[in-house]
Amino acid sequence: MDRRHRLAQQDCDHVWHPYASIVDPPLATTIVSADGVRLYTAEGQALIDGMSSWWAAIHGYNHPVLNNAAHGQIDRMSHVMFGGITHEPAVALASMLVDLTPEPLQKVFFADSGSVSVEVAIKMAVQYWHGMGCPEKNRFLTVRSGYHGDTFGAMALCDPVTGMHEHFTSVLQQHYFAESPGCRFDESWDDAYIQDFRQLMEAHHQQLAAVVLEPIVQGAGGMRFYSPEYLRQVKMLCEAHDVLLVADEIATGFGRTGELFACNYAGISPDIMCLGKALTGGYMTLAATLATDRVSRGISKNGGVLMHGPTFMANPLACAVAEASIRLLLNGPWRESVHRIEQRLLSGLAPCRGFSGVADVRALGAIGVVEMKTPVDLAAVQKQFVNQGVWIRPFGKLIYTMPPYIISDDDLDFLTRAIVRVAGSL
Ligand code: PMP
Repeated sequence: MDRRHRLAQQDCDHVWHPYASIVDPPLATTIVSADGVRLYTAEGQALIDGMSSWWAAIHGYNHPVLNNAAHGQIDRMSHVMFGGITHEPAVALASMLVDLTPEPLQKVFFADSGSVSVEVAIKMAVQYWHGMGCPEKNRFLTVRSGYHGDTFGAMALCDPVTGMHEHFTSVLQQHYFAESPGCRFDESWDDAYIQDFRQLMEAHHQQLAAVVLEPIVQGAGGMRFYSPEYLRQVKMLCEAHDVLLVADEIATGFGRTGELFACNYAGISPDIMCLGKALTGGYMTLAATLATDRVSRGISKNGGVLMHGPTFMANPLACAVAEASIRLLLNGPWRESVHRIEQRLLSGLAPCRGFSGVADVRALGAIGVVEMKTPVDLAAVQKQFVNQGVWIRPFGKLIYTMPPYIISDDDLDFLTRAIVRVAGSL
């Protein structure tokens, strides 16, 4: 057995992959290097990356600016504990995030993954109400088709009907779920769309610490794009009923939807915001939970401190790369690139509308979705894509792409043509 096959076999024998069987795993594709928008397999094949490593690699791979930031920092200090110690990469990044996000967000907690940043948001909201003398406000209101991560607090906020976390239902804390936002992104507004949410808010606000939702784009729960007006209405209801608003911008942050943060579409400011994924341009694992002064003061009443402290909190290497990644984004034409990708995804994927198996085709920012009428066979479809030289990982009924912003028109056309061929064959 040559080295390549031995590696694949050892992977099957010992390595757990996300949402995959460990006893009878599908053969994973071995990637040996990545550059620009291409992933290179052990077989020497180049795959155009349509996933940005799950929303993260917005600048593509092996980017000299990010490489330099990582090298520069690793030579100084790759990690140091954050308890009682601070360092420039964390302070510089926090200041930058405060400048970029809606103005009331002033305080930054650095976590090591998106799910943990959601856990921190939950803790912030619960501790805030404790500090304010309202410990009964410890439940959350969210919307169906939402996804917020795989840790226990985050799972409790995910739509239970998507089935991702069904094994844990008996263990999870029970929260309130309003219908998914029914109003599509560009649809005209009707008050009926917010009725269910409003009723739950009116009935339960005395127990509610916060509303948690993904602004504008619901990702893993269905790749749905909804109206900014829904978000504005949610914000108004939160204010009217004294309930905090947590915006999970882990997937949507840093330009993916066409705005720097998806909340900007609605011109609203949440009390707490979670960021992750593209924060480091996909280089390192880092996330952040931002809070307003109001929230941080509430938590700090009577000497309260936020009870969370990951070992790798504010990892300097990750913070340095994140700062470089955000600078790179802001100094470049990201808005034009994302708009160009949106237009090209819409035209490139349009032929899918004619296929009998296709239920819907949509694009927003650098996100393109072909929704099939029935779930696709993941392993078979994945293979079809690899055979065509692209990396796309569908789930359920969804074939979707969110490529790096640096993708060229030619590569994007190659990608959409592959999606059209696959969708047409199903
Ligand atoms: N929230 C949203 C909206 C996400 O898309 C994800 C990741 N898919 C998470 C939270 C969890 O992030 P992580 O996988 O980094 O824990």
